[in-house]
Amino acid sequence: MVSVIVKFFIEEVSFWSRYCVNVLRVFPLFFQCLNILVEIVSFTRVTFFVIGSYILFSIVDKPVYFIDELVESANTLAHSKNVVLKHNIDKEGISFSFSKEGLPLNQVTLILKAISEVVPSEWLHKAQVITKVSEQFGKYEFIESHIKGFGLGLHIQFVEDKAVLAWVGKDANNLTKVHVRKSIEDSLMSGLPTPIAKQVLGCIQNSQLNKENVVRVFVGYESFSKVGVFPKVNFVRLEYKDSKYSELVRIQGKIYDVNRKFSYNDLVVLRKPVEGRVSSNYGLRVHPIFKDLRMHTGIDYAAKLGTPIYAVADGVVVKAERHRTYGNYVEIMHPSSRGKICSGYAHMTKLVLAKNQKVKQGDVIGYVGSTGIATGAHLHHEMKVDGKFVNPNHLKTFYKKVDDATLKELNKLVKFYNKNC
Ligand SMILES: [Zn+2]
Repeated sequence: MVSVIVKFFIEEVSFWSRYCVNVLRVFPLFFQCLNILVEIVSFTRVTFFVIGSYILFSIVDKPVYFIDELVESANTLAHSKNVVLKHNIDKEGISFSFSKEGLPLNQVTLILKAISEVVPSEWLHKAQVITKVSEQFGKYEFIESHIKGFGLGLHIQFVEDKAVLAWVGKDANNLTKVHVRKSIEDSLMSGLPTPIAKQVLGCIQNSQLNKENVVRVFVGYESFSKVGVFPKVNFVRLEYKDSKYSELVRIQGKIYDVNRKFSYNDLVVLRKPVEGRVSSNYGLRVHPIFKDLRMHTGIDYAAKLGTPIYAVADGVVVKAERHRTYGNYVEIMHPSSRGKICSGYAHMTKLVLAKNQKVKQGDVIGYVGSTGIATGAHLHHEMKVDGKFVNPNHLKTFYKKVDDATLKELNKLVKFYNKNC
């Protein structure tokens, strides 16, 4: 019995010791696994924390904002509705009729100011006004207004607390006829919307049209405009007492004088041909070499040998040649509304340009020399109009000649407008 117990005991001990040895052997592996598991759990927790925080922060404002919006729209729904008011402007005037609508005074003031800048108030007599307002707590807030019944329509709305206008519904082919009484300025201002009258007067001024003895003016302008932008004038016809007339047409943003065939937008301002001192002016003088009285056909600029000479305007080289008296000489043609304008440059060191070459204003076209008959290095610069010499001091600007395509368009438009005059 004892031996059985001992044997059992020994077996148990040996089993457990083997078991412990085995367990101890597995132990590091177990710890390694446990470690990995802990790592995975903590990584997942960090990830969830980050994602959770992100979601929390990104939505934390929204419910509040959303609720505000809900409350606001609920309020709006409960208390405000759009109302359309209609009235005709009576003899008491536009300011009275707008005030009658119960709009806040500051809004009425802004609307009236915007309208007064565009049309004379007497135009609006009997005009129909349709105003959309929102009514809230019994008070009106201006939304938009439409005024019609005086040849054109005006649309008024508020943009950033400013009353702005848009034009609507004028027949594009419809020319406005203005009879001139007393002054053309007053007649245009009372016969046209103010911004249009100002544009017409500006066009007449810039084109240097004769304003005397005008009996009638026809004006064509755009029928629509963007909000806050005034329509542009497309056509002006001035009729004079002696039944002569002048016409202006807008093509691609430029105003063209139909009779004189130029656009005042194409004004060319000539530049100085060389940096130098004027040593001899245009006109009769005693010739420095021949010592007799001769016409000096240009202006002489004294400058150091080799000083660059510039083209006075865009053009085409029509002469680049050696001349007995002029030395190396270049002539550039500048197509203009008043004829063939040519600029000449004499006594240059050498010829750097060839005939038919195009040049831009300010291009170097040669250098100051003393070739030909000259007492020293200087530039002899002359200007001609249709082959006749003119004093370069009297020709500082000119208008570019209209090209053929534009001219064709010009004639087509004038024909179209004249049908409606
Ligand atoms: Zn000269």
